[in-house]
Amino acid sequence: MNVFKLILLLFIAPVFTWQVCFASPQPIQVVTTTTDLADLAGIIGGDKVRVVSLSRGNQMGCHSVEPRPSMVVNLSRADILIKIGLDYDSWVDALVDSSRNAKIVFDAAGYIDASTNIARLEVPTGKVDASMGHIHLYGNPHYWLDPENGRIIAENICAGLVRIVPLYSDYFIANKEAFIRLLAVKIQDWKAKLLPYKSKKIVSYHKSWEYFAKSFGFDIITAIEPKPGIPPSPAYLKELVAKLKKENNLMILHENVYPDTTSRMIARETGAKLLQLPVSVGGVKDTARDYIGLFDHIIGEIAKD
Ligand SMILES: [Zn+2]
Repeated sequence: MNVFKLILLLFIAPVFTWQVCFASPQPIQVVTTTTDLADLAGIIGGDKVRVVSLSRGNQMGCHSVEPRPSMVVNLSRADILIKIGLDYDSWVDALVDSSRNAKIVFDAAGYIDASTNIARLEVPTGKVDASMGHIHLYGNPHYWLDPENGRIIAENICAGLVRIVPLYSDYFIANKEAFIRLLAVKIQDWKAKLLPYKSKKIVSYHKSWEYFAKSFGFDIITAIEPKPGIPPSPAYLKELVAKLKKENNLMILHENVYPDTTSRMIARETGAKLLQLPVSVGGVKDTARDYIGLFDHIIGEIAKD
């Protein structure tokens, strides 16, 4: 090694290494309960965050996922936890307790409830009890399926990131604004695409599509589950089929996280068009890879004739 190389190694390399460390600190560890939130956190956080979703897009059929030790490990390292809230992902609460991570407990700076400021639908009035179904007790939690709510979710995530790392505020806000601009253009597009299908009447398996239907102006006739989380009995199904046979222009939006036997039977008996659709990012292979792709896929399927 000549003298010049030695000088380089002794003086320049440490400076270079220090600069690299300074320019690229550890990414902020973000854990989300769902893939939809993970996608939006990744868009807004960009290269400043490392995002892990605890569930996959083809899970959550019963608003729950099987707990795994790796989830607790991820939560123990998290700077931020982002939840859907409204009891949709309350399965994560026990895992947060196990992680003993004070940064992400309820009301800590690193706790983000994405449902903040969402106009909730189907909020029960009066006394709430088990007869109402064992889920949706705080209103319908499937609000991310209205793309207009994507803007509010993005605002909530951005506010949380800014709170934790104010140094990157401008970066997070610029990413969020760019996403909101793109989303607004896509919403116009999707609304135009669905316009000729407005007369279709929706039957869903679970009550997942209330926000979607409100946003795009569809009527929902009924859900196949008599109450959220409660499968239909044979007697209930018989009555339902008789009722639906009197309707026309029906489309069954079957969430692909649920078994499809009942939805297929109803489609057969009533002549309804059956669409098996993802309800979260990653819910189908190859498409629906991100939040915008999820709607591209759903709307593409409805508008396919
Ligand atoms: Zn639900």
